Amino acid sequence: MSARILVVDDLEANRRLLEAKLGADYYEVLTAQRGEEGVQLAKREKPDLILMDVMMPGGIDGYEACRRLKAMPETRHIPVIILTTLDDRDNKLRGLQAGAEEFLTKPIDDVQLMARVKSLLSLKVVIDELRAREANGKRLGVIDEDLRNDPLEQHRLVAGNVLVVDDNLTQIKSIKAALGVEHRVTVMGQDEAEGPPDLCVVSMTARSFDGFRVIARMRSGEATRHLPILAVVEPDDKQRANRALELGAHDIIGRPIDEEELVARARTLMRRKRYMDALRHRLDQSLELAITDQLTGLYNRRFLMGQLTPLAQRAQCGGEAVSIMVVDIDHFKRLNDTYGHDVGDAVLRDFAVRLGTNTRPSDFACRMGGEEFVVIMPRTTGDIGCLAAERLRRSVCGSPFVAPGLGHPIEVTVSIGVAASEESDESVDALLKRADEALYEAKNAGRNRVIGKTSPRAA
Ligand code: GH3
Ligand code: MG
Ligand code: MG
Repeated sequence: MSARILVVDDLEANRRLLEAKLGADYYEVLTAQRGEEGVQLAKREKPDLILMDVMMPGGIDGYEACRRLKAMPETRHIPVIILTTLDDRDNKLRGLQAGAEEFLTKPIDDVQLMARVKSLLSLKVVIDELRAREANGKRLGVIDEDLRNDPLEQHRLVAGNVLVVDDNLTQIKSIKAALGVEHRVTVMGQDEAEGPPDLCVVSMTARSFDGFRVIARMRSGEATRHLPILAVVEPDDKQRANRALELGAHDIIGRPIDEEELVARARTLMRRKRYMDALRHRLDQSLELAITDQLTGLYNRRFLMGQLTPLAQRAQCGGEAVSIMVVDIDHFKRLNDTYGHDVGDAVLRDFAVRLGTNTRPSDFACRMGGEEFVVIMPRTTGDIGCLAAERLRRSVCGSPFVAPGLGHPIEVTVSIGVAASEESDESVDALLKRADEALYEAKNAGRNRVIGKTSPRAA
């Protein structure tokens, strides 16, 4: 996967080296010498990943640069890898506190570098996709501003369930000691799980099972597909480390495990998972909210218009006909006045169920508002549409409605207007208007009936 990577380092030799390493893998590399310059460049160029040196004399250091990047909405989603000097633990931790996704120690190990780069870039692809869909949602007005609480803030909190897949007792003990402080750690085959895991630590050096197989299975399983995996490898075994990453591990850590490094990596992986989960959830929720009616669970008016427009256009271009019925409950106001609003709501819900069972799976049943409903019937001519409407009308008046808390059933009837779009060049609004006129006629003719209006040309 090609991507643009920004390298911020004060030393030319370091920039050159990274440029060469990354360039060899066909990444496009941008460079900056100073922290401020790096922040500006990131803001302007929106790279996919940033490699940030810590020590940059004569200006802000890498931590501060990272903090600024993470504080700006335009750049906060771009992953940052902090480059620190060897074995400098305080620096590693400070980097993560500044919001960096990863850290790498100098001199930079090629496998580690490529592992982190690849893993963060694949994450970036998903985040970009989610962000794009969210931006679209906002443009279409299906994502409300009040749903926009930034998930970045919520994912700062990290305490979760860690699942350990290992058979080395000493190593298990060390993992438990390190991660048990913040998280609930369970060992597969030993402990009862307390809930779905937020992170899985898998040993690649186990004797009793194949760690690669564990990773592969988790990647393909529906429930574990998004679960971050940290693979424990021999530090010199680059081949196996790469294999683990190819199979879908998100990160690797060398043996013997440095407990502080493990804590920091676990935190980063879980933070990232929370962020992705929050984005995904918010998106699903807003899309769901955007197209369904809360009382009945039917589609809403917005969804109806979105579906009907292309269907009607296709019918006009000589494609298959589309019919619609507009359904209105008779004397619903009286029903409300007599039995109360709650009974009215129960009738609306029951009616929605009948609507669902009396239409085809390919039809779209929508609540337009109040006690008015519209059913879109693709590939349906007016006469067939009228038959469908008649079937629905009978199912409503044929068996009375039962409302909870009410001692007796209620007789309900509906009036229905049907219109079909058949190669006329009328707008969706005009089509709906014709169906409305048919409905009005049905009401005037005494209610509890179906009136159909074919298109002007077909008539
Ligand atoms: P018609 O036969 O001519 O359609 O008469 P109607 O009484 O059904 O029509 P009208 O439009 O006068 O009244 C509709 C009523 O539906 C008025 C409104 O209070 C009620 N209504 C609208 N939305 C809801 C709702 O969500 N729940 C309940 N219970 N009532 C609703
Ligand atoms: Mg009514
Ligand atoms: Mg009405």
